[in-house]
Amino acid sequence: MAKLHLITYGCQMNEYDSERVAGLLKAEHYDLCERPEDADLILLNTCSIREKAEDKVFSQLGALKRLKRARPDVIIGVMGCMAQLQRGRIQERAPFVDLVFGSPAIARVGELVARVKGGERAVLETGESPLVKITARPETGRLRAFVTVMEGCEKHCTFCVVPTTRGRERSHPPEAIVAEIEELAAAGCREVTLLGQTVNAYGRDLDPPTDLAALLEQVDAIAGIERIRFTTSNPYNLTPRLIRAIRDVPKVVEYLHLPLQSGSDRVLERMHRGYTRARYLELIDEVKETVGEIALSTDIIVGFPGETDEDFAETVDVVERVGYDNAFVFRYSRRPGTPAADMPDQVADEVKARRNAELLAVTGRVAAERSRRLEGRVLPVLVDGTSRMDAREASGRTRCNRVVNFEAGSAGLVGSVVAVRITQALPHSLRGTLVDAGIPAALPAAALG
Ligand code: SAM
Repeated sequence: MAKLHLITYGCQMNEYDSERVAGLLKAEHYDLCERPEDADLILLNTCSIREKAEDKVFSQLGALKRLKRARPDVIIGVMGCMAQLQRGRIQERAPFVDLVFGSPAIARVGELVARVKGGERAVLETGESPLVKITARPETGRLRAFVTVMEGCEKHCTFCVVPTTRGRERSHPPEAIVAEIEELAAAGCREVTLLGQTVNAYGRDLDPPTDLAALLEQVDAIAGIERIRFTTSNPYNLTPRLIRAIRDVPKVVEYLHLPLQSGSDRVLERMHRGYTRARYLELIDEVKETVGEIALSTDIIVGFPGETDEDFAETVDVVERVGYDNAFVFRYSRRPGTPAADMPDQVADEVKARRNAELLAVTGRVAAERSRRLEGRVLPVLVDGTSRMDAREASGRTRCNRVVNFEAGSAGLVGSVVAVRITQALPHSLRGTLVDAGIPAALPAAALG
């Protein structure tokens, strides 16, 4: 067997793509290895979402240059979003790279590697290939897994590179997704996160068309799976039917990630997001009314071109109103080829930094308030191991995705769902005491108090 070393940057979808590539290359007799020095093939799976992510890859390539000089036979490839967006710069700054291919070409990785092995230099592939699911996951027996259900993105948010890097929207057929999750469940997986750039647009390109709510029901029927998450939903495509599915499909957790990006109508319009502040807040009300107790998280960009202090104050106001359990705050990063990169009124770095710090303080306080509301409640916790701080304690997650550490004695609880009374909300986790070591997995948080 030859050796493959994979370095993954960026989002959950990239983690999934790396597993997919590892599965496809396993069929070509490549086994994963820990150290680049031991590898015959090194692949960097890259991210282009912000400039910082690209800088990391170039510095990693700098380190690999020395390895390539010492061992010219090692094949070095760059895959993923940066391969699609920055192929010219990669070839210019790292001419020793043998292979560059984008995410839409993943299915052809075996053939591309074979071409390099056959003596071809600087193989470049940025076209599309058929959709592939993971055939042989390199790692089995894990409790949680990501499963990409649709590729690409057809939104045209003016700040974002994803439509360029990941191509058009393509949904995987429900049968292929169900088969993959059945295989995961048989290998011990208890929780799946269904992934798509606009996951709630799932299925509209299929023949016959379907939707995410229908897929959630199909996944719910898979024995062994106890929790289903999905991300990322776009407010524009959030339907009453999907909101009802969050309430009604038992294994779907009461958690929704719904990117806001900005709380100002002026900025939202310039971002081309397709909703207003009022519409977003209306959706949040509908979600809270329909589902009841639900955890909400979001993505927010600060310092988008033209964002004023007043616009920013409107974003802060939405954060306070919604009460997010978690918020990911990003400073706007100018991405080549996107409309916002050419907008004249770019915001100064110091202003971005100040707004970033201010917003983090608010989101942190709001999230802490949300955590404190959980104190005293008994919540179902999927146990996944021992506490990072104290190996004598068990650790797991609530349906709302909070980490809970609790004393569990010597019982082997990993993989099971137990009832834990929350005794203390800490900044990044909860503490609790075990109430019941065997409860029905699908029981929603609200049912336990
Ligand atoms: N497709 C999803 C959507 O449209 O909501 C999110 C995809 S993206 C991988 C994750 C987050 O990165 C976005 O929600 C956005 O907040 C952030 N992001 C994307 N482009 C950015 C940019 N140019 N600068 C800063 N943050 C950015």
